[in-house]
Amino acid sequence: MSALLYPHLLEILACPRDGKALREIPGFLVCPEDHRYAIVEGVPIMLRSDVPQTHIEAERALAIAEQGDKAVLPRIVVKANEVDPFVQNTIAATNGGMYIPLIGKLKEYPIPKLRMAQGNGALFLDVGCNWGRWCIAASRRGYRPVGIDPSLKSIRSAYRVTRQLGLQIPFVVGDGRYLPFADLIFDRVFSYSVLQHLSKENCLAVLREVRRVLKIEGQGMVQMPNVFGIRSFYNQLRRGFRPPEGFDVRYWTRKALLEAFSSAIGPSQLSVDGYFSLDAQISDIHLLPRRYRPIVYASEGLRKLSAKLPWMGFFADSLYVTAARCD
Ligand SMILES: [Zn+2]
Repeated sequence: MSALLYPHLLEILACPRDGKALREIPGFLVCPEDHRYAIVEGVPIMLRSDVPQTHIEAERALAIAEQGDKAVLPRIVVKANEVDPFVQNTIAATNGGMYIPLIGKLKEYPIPKLRMAQGNGALFLDVGCNWGRWCIAASRRGYRPVGIDPSLKSIRSAYRVTRQLGLQIPFVVGDGRYLPFADLIFDRVFSYSVLQHLSKENCLAVLREVRRVLKIEGQGMVQMPNVFGIRSFYNQLRRGFRPPEGFDVRYWTRKALLEAFSSAIGPSQLSVDGYFSLDAQISDIHLLPRRYRPIVYASEGLRKLSAKLPWMGFFADSLYVTAARCD
């Protein structure tokens, strides 16, 4: 029987169906209505099996949860100085096209810099955390991070990577539309390069959940793609401006972003994350192929300029929406 790796997670977890408190029984978390969530190798699978999933990995995680103790998971052992094989394989999927040449060749973990004030122990949630890069970034900035992702493979990798780096960060498998957390507990809710893959209806469902789990005066910070970004425009041109489907990126106008975040969470504002790509991080410049570095430097230069010249935000590709919960 598998027990929770982080028993103190029970203090913040709640049933994603009805919000009720959970208790641990051998191999499961259970709510008073008898909704059960399997614990697989110490990781709670907090997905709802009664709703359509948005990600194939959520279906896989649910199938493993069904098998309970009979599930056989691949045993991945990572040596002290090596980069986790899951991260080696998925780096371009999590970090973007400029990282394709780094697949299988990473010498270190690309940990971004979190553009937030010092955390001083504030509770931080990363929605769609994958292998945990933003949770690690948040921990370095003084936050107490918690990561959630629908993929059990990603979450297992996040546990391996953070343990390897000597960090104690709890991660759970779950769905942003039905966050398995109690109301009013997080100081910050963050999400990067995730909600763009959801339909606008599902995205709004996530934003309403972000509000629910935020404390009063807590803040959400979400990276989203701008429909008028230079690179965004090119990408839409390549797909012939057909409506997005499945996992396609949904491009938002600045106005639609402000309306969605203001109505779901509270007063919102936009800032520039970058140009010409959705994901390349200036903190990874030494890892990226030389031919891409000028693009990333140019993006960073334009981003800094945009703080003085707000109109430059109109053609930025990657935007941050910051939204405050006021009541
Ligand atoms: Zn329940």
